[in-house]
Amino acid sequence: MFSYRHAFHAGNHADVLKHLVLVAALRHLTQKETALWVVDTHAGAGLYRLDGDYAGTSGEAAEGILKLVAALPGLAEPAPALTDYLDRVHSFNREGSWRIYPGSPFLAQALLRQEVRDKLKLFELHPTDSKSLAANIAQLGAGRQVSVAREDGFEALKSVLPPPSRRALVLIDPSYEIKSDYAKVHAVLRDALQRFATGTYAVWYPIIPRPEAHELPRKLKTLANSFRKPWLHATFSIGQPDDAAPAPGEERRTGMAASGMFLVNPPHTLKPALQAALPQLLDVLGRGRGKGQLIESGGG
Ligand code: SAM
Repeated sequence: MFSYRHAFHAGNHADVLKHLVLVAALRHLTQKETALWVVDTHAGAGLYRLDGDYAGTSGEAAEGILKLVAALPGLAEPAPALTDYLDRVHSFNREGSWRIYPGSPFLAQALLRQEVRDKLKLFELHPTDSKSLAANIAQLGAGRQVSVAREDGFEALKSVLPPPSRRALVLIDPSYEIKSDYAKVHAVLRDALQRFATGTYAVWYPIIPRPEAHELPRKLKTLANSFRKPWLHATFSIGQPDDAAPAPGEERRTGMAASGMFLVNPPHTLKPALQAALPQLLDVLGRGRGKGQLIESGGG
C-alpha cells in the first residue's frame, strides 16, 4: 500500500486518455446554469513537474503528453477535444514551455464556475501526496469552492452523494495497487448509483494481464445495464515498443501500454468528441504491436 506515486506517471498515455475525457465531459456539463459538483475520489498531488526527478526517471510523459505536443503542429485538423485538452494543460505553463502537468483536480477546477457555485471535492489518502495536494490547492485561493480531505475516497464518496444540486461528475481513479481495488470500484459504483442514479461517473482502469482488470469493464457494463443507464467505454493502447523483446536472460520490461475509461451517464457530446480525437491520438502515440483504440456505448 502507498508505494504508488502518481508523479512517476504524470502525463503518460493513460493520463492523456483520462484527462482528455475529463475535460471534454466537463466542457459539456458546465454549460448548464446549475451548480455542478466534481468529486475526485483518488485525487493525487494535483500538480507535477515534468522535468523533475520522478517524471524524469520514468520518462512516461515522453510517450504521452510531450509526444502529443511535439506532433500537434503536424496535424492538419486537430480534433477540438485534443486542442482543448492541450490548451488546458498549457495554461499551467509559461508560453511555449511544458514543465508542469496538472492532474485531475487542477484540470477540473479550472473549468468550474464561481458564479453558479460549482464545487470540487477531493480525496487523497497518501500522507505525502495529500499534503502536497492541500498545499497546491491552497495556492489557488479558491476558498470554499474546493475541499481536500485525507480520506479513503471509496468510503468518502457516500458522504457527498447526492449533491444538493443533483448534478455531479465523479471521477474514480484508483492506483489498483492492491487487487481488491477492482472489486471496490464495482461496489462503490453500485452504491453510488443507488444513492444518485443520474450522476455522471467516470472510472479509469489499466489494461494489464490480470483477470480482475480484464473483467472490470464487462462487470461495469452489466452494472450500468442493470440500472438502465447509458454507458460509454473508451480504450486506448499505444502498443508495445518494437524493442520490447527481452535480451537473453533479461526480463521483459514493457510497462502498461493500455488503459480504459468507463462512463455511466456520459454527456451525449462525448462520443463524437472521442471519435474525432482518439484516432488522431493513436496516429501520434501508437508505437507498435497491439496499438489501437475502441469506443463503444450502450445501455439507457
Ligand atoms: N486522479 C489523479 C489524476 O488524474 O491526476 C491521479 C490519481 S492516482 C492514479 C491514484 C491516487 O489514489 C494516488 O495518489 C494514491 O495515493 C491514491 N489512493 C490510493 N488509495 C486511496 C484511497 N483508498 N482513497 C483515496 N486515495 C487513494
